[in-house]
Amino acid sequence: MAVRDPPPLAESALYGEYPFLPGAEALAEEMAVSVRGLLEDGAFEVSREIGRARVLAAADDPRGTSTIEELSRAAPEIQFLSFLFARLVLSAAASPAPLRRWAVAESKRAHARLRSSSIEELGEVARRLGYPITELASSEVALSLTDYVRLAVPIRDAEFRLGSQDVRHGQVEVSRERAARLLQEAVRSELARPMPIEEGARAAIRAREAALLEEISRRVPLPVARPGANTAELRPDRFPPCIRKMRRSLEHGENLSHAGRFALAAFLHRAGADLETIVDAYRGAPDFDESITRYQIDHITHRDGGKGYEPPECATLRTHGLCIRDGDSSGPTPLDRARDPLCFEPFLRHPLQYYRLRGGRVLEGGEDRAGGGSPTSRSEEGSGTGSVPARTPSTDPRQ
Ligand code: SF4
Repeated sequence: MAVRDPPPLAESALYGEYPFLPGAEALAEEMAVSVRGLLEDGAFEVSREIGRARVLAAADDPRGTSTIEELSRAAPEIQFLSFLFARLVLSAAASPAPLRRWAVAESKRAHARLRSSSIEELGEVARRLGYPITELASSEVALSLTDYVRLAVPIRDAEFRLGSQDVRHGQVEVSRERAARLLQEAVRSELARPMPIEEGARAAIRAREAALLEEISRRVPLPVARPGANTAELRPDRFPPCIRKMRRSLEHGENLSHAGRFALAAFLHRAGADLETIVDAYRGAPDFDESITRYQIDHITHRDGGKGYEPPECATLRTHGLCIRDGDSSGPTPLDRARDPLCFEPFLRHPLQYYRLRGGRVLEGGEDRAGGGSPTSRSEEGSGTGSVPARTPSTDPRQ
């Protein structure tokens, strides 16, 4: 017997399942909910409770696999309000990292449903997100080349490279499963942007939900350099521009490619950072998972009698778009924004060489052995599968 698509969702159920869709706010219009009402009114306590559960589930598990029982049983209006509450609270948080982590978890929750949804539901969600797809006779779907590139660029899985796709007449043809993954990216990037909140409302949210915000910062701590025997000589101010930029990206809760994650862990190890300090550097990653990160860093640093994998040399980092020698226009200090003359010296070929020349101490086996020894392999797509690739990634800069 042929497998049939599930029946299409009613409008309200669609908004409950996908509360980020434009128009979902119509679910709450009859209730005339204000921000203050959502924060304080006893009538919305259930929505707040489920909203808090959404936030905490994401803090613990950015893979979005945690089941929130109350959410699956809730009416669409409550599903939407709990989503709105969670987004408001996280948009008011001092650090953007928890919001970005929540965006990963919520987008994965949506993906889990989309990948087994009917073609009608997939198409409807895609259309409302602004990325229309067309059903093809081959049971695949097509979307415009522009939309494909916009959605696929942040995905680090090599299968999403444009060169591996079927492109016909300006349309990219993909499986329904792949289309669901692309839409996951659309949701993630949308939810990772904080909602605009007036200062008064922000202060009220922070005051009302102080306990929740405190709990989030406990569960998603910011990276902190720890003093320790191995790290006493670490000189982050002497790190090369590429490494400083990688650390800033993670501190700000931004995604860092597999190549960047690998390079950072391998560099920090050679610069003398201990395991805890290296793990801390990844805490801001939107998909940070402590146990997986520890496992992967352990793998990178214990190879070859503790020397670890070789950090990539400058030429490799340039291939991955990670060389920042021209300066980082968004950098916080004039030093970060400026072109770095040392990086343009013809003899400079390795970030560890830069660090040593700036007065940093490098453990034995540093830049002299750069570029060799690491197998070329690709880890699975990063979001939710871990924070650091276990091996040197391939040369695809999008991974
Ligand atoms: S030249 Fe080398 S050390 Fe300098 S930013 Fe580029 S990759 Fe880093």
